[in-house]
Formats: sequence, structure tokens, C-alpha cells
Amino acid sequence: MIAHTPTLFGCVALVATIMAFCLILVGQFNRRDGLLTIGFGLLAHALAYVGYTFYGHAPLWFTYGAANSLLAVALAFYGASLFRIVELPVPWSRVFAPAALMLVLMVSLIDTLEPRMLAASIVLMVQCALIIYWTLRHIPALGRARMLLIIGSSISLIGLGMRVVAIFGGGAAEMRYDVSNLKQTISVSIGTFTAMMISLGLVLLAKERSESLLKHMALRDVLTGILNRRAILEQFSSELERARREHACLGVAMVDIDHFKQINDVHGHLAGDEVISHCARHLSQRLRASDSIGRYGGEEFLLLLPDTPPEGVAAVLDELRTSLAEAPAQYGESSIALRISIGVCCDVPSEGDTTASLLARADAALYEAKGMGRDRVRFATPEDKSEGDWVSS
Ligand code: GH3
Ligand code: MG
Ligand code: MG
Repeated sequence: MIAHTPTLFGCVALVATIMAFCLILVGQFNRRDGLLTIGFGLLAHALAYVGYTFYGHAPLWFTYGAANSLLAVALAFYGASLFRIVELPVPWSRVFAPAALMLVLMVSLIDTLEPRMLAASIVLMVQCALIIYWTLRHIPALGRARMLLIIGSSISLIGLGMRVVAIFGGGAAEMRYDVSNLKQTISVSIGTFTAMMISLGLVLLAKERSESLLKHMALRDVLTGILNRRAILEQFSSELERARREHACLGVAMVDIDHFKQINDVHGHLAGDEVISHCARHLSQRLRASDSIGRYGGEEFLLLLPDTPPEGVAAVLDELRTSLAEAPAQYGESSIALRISIGVCCDVPSEGDTTASLLARADAALYEAKGMGRDRVRFATPEDKSEGDWVSS
């Protein structure tokens, strides 16, 4: 089907205007989340297509020069939005350099046919390639937004590539904006994908970004940045299920800072907070990637060590205890020494074991460790599920 090219341009301009209006309207409420910049991009996109619609009926500087420069500005705004959404500083000069180049090229080549068409297509292709590069570089996680951005920009690259091939093949006259033919219909329709897919991809990216921030806030402890109580207990449930299924050992350790009230009393609560953060950092940096740590309470941490026999768990926990004793926390000028006690249970979970029962056993062992003078690791025995003799100090 061959569409009337100026009508096609008009349709794109109309849709882009509506989308721009919506995004600029809602973007006002949060100027930092990138929606406003996407809206400006769509507005420039719409204006560019308005310019193309008048091709042949208005001066060339408007219908070609200004229109293509506006399209380059639109792509620059899309690039800027990407940085905004992922909360990186926008490299404005790099983002807008191709648009400035487009303006210069249009001014100097406006009276030619092939050179100006080639220049416009190549600058736009570079901008699409840049969007793909920035997407791959700054949006590492595979997601729907990333997919839309890459597919949208790639389709646009193909459309622009078709124009370049047609120009080199001597068909520049066929690709003029007031000519309607199959190639032109396909090329302009493909161009439409840029506005729709890139802007939708960016909006989706903003949504995915705020979802991941909310998820982070819901699962992370504010003070230490490690898993919070809810998250570590969820992790505990799935580790317990897995250990039971695979008949593997699961180490469950409850860590508590010794005489922490004294630290608060002597150095103040802010210093106490720093000691808790220091302890969390120290423990999490030394655990394996397969282990988990969460803040269970004030200065209590829950550690999960899957697939580790009791001897291995004893060695790891004792290393944590001794290394932490040698690494005091720094608070201003003060160096605050700290010791920890650890209660741990470690065996292959049976059908009757639950997170609550294992926690109770680790907690009882911790209570024993405290009673025995603190600064030690105390094991609950696997056989009779009462506390046992695995003590190190
Ligand atoms: P023990 O050796 O028996 O563990 O003695 P302890 O003094 O450490 O006693 P306990 O474990 O009961 O101490 C908990 C204290 O931790 C009580 C509370 O004031 C303090 N605390 C709890 N959460 C925070 C926090 O987020 N920041 C600070 N600075 N202190 C906290
Ligand atoms: Mg405590
Ligand atoms: Mg304590």
C-alpha cells in the first residue's frame, strides 16, 4: 500500500504532539524523572514532521533545514532523558553536538539535493547509534525498556539506511518528502517507530527505575544497606526449602555486638550507628556470594551459610569474629573496638524444622555464648537439637 507521504507526516506530527502534551503536562510535577525531557523530545519530533508536511509548499530552509535540525534536537532530548532517568549527569554538549552539526550542515548544503539528504540521514543514524550505545552502557539489566529502546533505535537505523542506499543508488528524487511511493511509505513508517518506541521505551525505563528504587527501599536496611529483617527472613524461607530439597547443610547464625549499650553510652548514638554500619560492612564483605546477611534487629545480624558443613561454618564464623575484633570502627577521632558473640545451628534440615525453630536454636546458642563470657561462637548440636560443645573463643 502506498500512502500519501505528507498525510503520513501529518499523522506522525499529530500523534507526537498528543504524546508530547501529555508528558510535558505530567513532567511538570517531577522535573527530575526525565518525563519532561521526553516530552520536549516529542514536541521537537512533532514540529519536525509538521515541517516535512509542508515540503514543496514552503521555503526549503523551513521544510528541510529546520525540520531535520528539529528531528536531531528530538533525538538529543531522548538521549538526555536516558541519562536523567538513570540519574547520571547529562553530558549536554555530547548529547546536543549532532543537532548543532545538523544545523550547520543544513545551512551549508540546503541548495543541494543528494549531499543534504545524505548529511541529514547520516547525522540521524549517528544519533540512533548513540542511543543504542548509551542504552547498552547505562542500562545493564535486561528489561522491557532496554529492549524497546534498542529495537526502536535499530529499526530507525534501518529506515535511515534505506534512504542512504536509495540516494547512493541515484534515487534521491524518489525520496523527496513530497513524493509518494512504496519506498517512501516504508521509510516514513519506519521513522514513526522512532518516536513511538523510543519515547515509550524511555517512559517504561522511568517506571522500571522507580520500581527498582521502591523494591530496594522495601528490602534494604536504611542504616547499613544490607537486607532488612523482612528480606532476610524471606531469603531464609527459600534457603530452608532448598536445603531440605537437596539434603544439604544450612548454617544459621545469629550475631550480636557485645556490650553495645556501653558503646552508645560512652560514644553516643551516632557513633553506635557507625559501629553497626561498620560491623555490617565487615561481615558482608567477608561472606561468600552464596551467603546472605541481614539486619535482624538493633545490633543483631542474621547470617545464612548454605551448603556448608559445620566445620566450615565454624571456621568462617570464627574468622569473622577475630577479624572484626582486630578492625575497630572509626568515628571522628575515636577508634571504637567491638566484639561479637555468635549463636549458630548447622545441619541438614528435617521435615519438622521451620525458620522459627532454627532461629530459636541459634538464638538460644547466642544466649549461651553471652552467658559464657561473650566474644565467642557457640553451636547448637545437630543430634539432640540442644546446645552443644562447639565453642571457640
Ligand atoms: P550484650 O553484650 O548482652 O548484647 O549487651 P548489649 O549492651 O549489646 O545489649 P543489647 O544487645 O540488648 O543492646 C541493644 C542496644 O542496642 C539497645 C539499643 O539502645 C541499641 N540499639 C538498637 N538499635 C540501635 C540503632 O539503630 N542505633 C544505635 N546507636 N543503637 C541501637
Ligand atoms: Mg542485642
Ligand atoms: Mg548486644
